[in-house]
Amino acid sequence: DQRRAPDYLSGLNPEQREAVETLDGPVLVLAGAGTGKTRVLTTRIAHILATGRAFPSQILAVTFTNKAAREMKERIGVLVGGAVEGMPWLGTFHSIGVRLLRRHAELAGLRSDFTILDTDDVVRLIKQLIQAEGLDDKRWPARQFAGMIDTWKNKGLLPADIPEGDARAFANGKGRELYAAYQARLKTLNACDFGDLLLHPIAIFRQNPDILKDYHGRFRYILVDEYQDTNTAQYMWLRLLAQRPKGTPQNVCCVGDDDQSIYGWRGAEVDNILRFEKDFPGARVIKLERNYRSTEHILGAAGHLIAHNEGRLGKTLFTDRTDPEDEKVIVHAAWDSEEEARAIGEEIERLQRGDAGGRKHALNDMAILVRASFQMREFEDRFVTLGLNYRVIGGPRFYERLEIRDAMAYFRLVCQPADDLAFERIVNTPKRGLGDTTVRYLHDYARARDIPMLAASAEIVETDELKPKARKALFDVVQSFRNWQQQLEATPHTELAEQILEESGYTDMWKADKSAEAPGRLENLKELVRSMEAFESMRGFLEHVSLVMDAETNENLDAVSIMTLHSAKGLEFDTVFLPGWEEGLFPHQRALDEGGRSGLEEERRLAYVGITRAKHRCHIWFVSNRRIHGLWQSTMPSRFLDELPQAHVDVAVAESNYGGYGGGRGGYGQSRFDKADPFANSYSTPGWKRAQANKTDATRDNWGTRSGHAVERIGYGESGPRGRTID
Ligand code: ATP
Ligand code: MG
Repeated sequence: DQRRAPDYLSGLNPEQREAVETLDGPVLVLAGAGTGKTRVLTTRIAHILATGRAFPSQILAVTFTNKAAREMKERIGVLVGGAVEGMPWLGTFHSIGVRLLRRHAELAGLRSDFTILDTDDVVRLIKQLIQAEGLDDKRWPARQFAGMIDTWKNKGLLPADIPEGDARAFANGKGRELYAAYQARLKTLNACDFGDLLLHPIAIFRQNPDILKDYHGRFRYILVDEYQDTNTAQYMWLRLLAQRPKGTPQNVCCVGDDDQSIYGWRGAEVDNILRFEKDFPGARVIKLERNYRSTEHILGAAGHLIAHNEGRLGKTLFTDRTDPEDEKVIVHAAWDSEEEARAIGEEIERLQRGDAGGRKHALNDMAILVRASFQMREFEDRFVTLGLNYRVIGGPRFYERLEIRDAMAYFRLVCQPADDLAFERIVNTPKRGLGDTTVRYLHDYARARDIPMLAASAEIVETDELKPKARKALFDVVQSFRNWQQQLEATPHTELAEQILEESGYTDMWKADKSAEAPGRLENLKELVRSMEAFESMRGFLEHVSLVMDAETNENLDAVSIMTLHSAKGLEFDTVFLPGWEEGLFPHQRALDEGGRSGLEEERRLAYVGITRAKHRCHIWFVSNRRIHGLWQSTMPSRFLDELPQAHVDVAVAESNYGGYGGGRGGYGQSRFDKADPFANSYSTPGWKRAQANKTDATRDNWGTRSGHAVERIGYGESGPRGRTID
């Protein structure tokens, strides 16, 4: 190709380039980890913009997290030079859904200032409905029903659609009525839940062909990352927007990897990949086979592991990043999780110092990926002790703290006076003598007249219904909110926020509190107000918070990342630590209890995702004793360890089990390895080691060499299960 390609194209390989330059018609990129799928999407957008094919506002691009959306925006800016103006439709399914719904709220029976409820709000609301039905909310837990509604919504099912059997399963057969009542209640509250952010737009598109047509005209290009993890509702939404009348170009490009489908438990349908070719006839399917991220050892370990899954599409992966100096994937054993955390902490510090002649590593380049979030505490404790910077990504978040939620309820009610859940949360916080009886009275009064509770309060304080003390207290609440609402436009929002927390007595409540946590809570409240500065208005801030999926991170701080395997999708790190590879934890007990193949295979895909996050170093750990729910249990090494290929894996023993690290490259001297009995102090007969020893040449049969590259054939191209091949 003699044409001079723009700079942003020149670094791509031919297949990637094809995926970027095939702008007309549907394109599906199906490829393994680290082959540049996300890079293709980013470059494709840059290409569309640079060639003037569309304005930023005419591109609809869906990422899996808000963080990924931000990064993509930055990357595009770098590629096309200068900041990307706008790109208002680049975001997660949810954030794009909010935007659509705000534009057409009235068609869903909402006002454009609707509130987005989080799980906690939803559960509280459902509990009220269950009680209102005269049902026992202990027998029929609200949280369980919230889960059922979520599942239905992920499948795109409205109350009328849910299968008879499913509906009967809850509340003496009243499941469907409850779901309908819940939807009605949301409308009264001028609120919606996360599922509605997709379901409402779907209904609006279906009922208003004109509006849909409008969006068909608007979105010239549609792009979706992590396509394997879309659920049915998302797919329906996408298909409505992407399927055009005959003769009109359907410029939709989806990229994904069936081996990285890890949200089946949340309703994701990997079959959406197969459906794509049916729904978009003539789709160009492009495969990327070269991995740019990981060393041969990392890729080899991951590829061999995932080959144990049966339900796969065929794929080939290779890398030419082969360096004899590359470290194999290392499996470590530790006595318990405390030792595991200690040893990983030491390893991190060693890498940071650049011991044994190695280069110094930034903490930003290291990540600990856990199967379950409870595993994080140990690392957090340890790192605090060591003074090692870390950040928790996607975990229990700043905004989920009690004091933050209370403060947010005040802000919500100021912005959206119909938000009864917010009202109920703070009407007696701090304590004002407005007890349960008063609140129930307010509740009933409001229900009877179909008005919000704050409006009901304004009426009631004009009457003699309440005792003088309660009446005075409620009067003050009503007055305060009136006053804050009036200031909403004029007063700078951070100032107003501070004023609300002061005048409501909320800050004073924590100042008076003598508990150990109180000072921390006050600091958090200050931080909350500080964090609002980045937004233009209180409403903008509230919307942001309801959408934040990512943890609060200080991007400038050099810190180790701690996150679940699920949140690590799409990310990459120089060094990855994977602790807790034990039966019952990973694969998780829930998946094992299911008994079927699918749960276990999803766990294995999760392991594949974990290993393939690593560029250079991947350390896997298991412990022989773990405390689960407060009880010590002795554990079995994960079966996934059995499934790693010897050729790419070394076995090490934790320091305390072996009496010190030897010298050598990167701190991993041979003296640390004791191939004869690496588990002298922790395992007498480690099952996975025995299995390793029994491994025959069959392991190596999966490996070959192609033009100097290590080549792994991990696919079942010709005879895939259920005939699933993409050739
Ligand atoms: P995942 O499946 O994990 O999401 P992916 O297929 O999206 O992976 P990317 O994250 O886009 O892969 O790319 C992996 C790494 O390889 C990135 O660091 C990216 O910059 C790099 N990379 C991709 N393509 C090329 C290329 N043609 N030349 C050099 N580096 C590349
Ligand atoms: Mg990616």
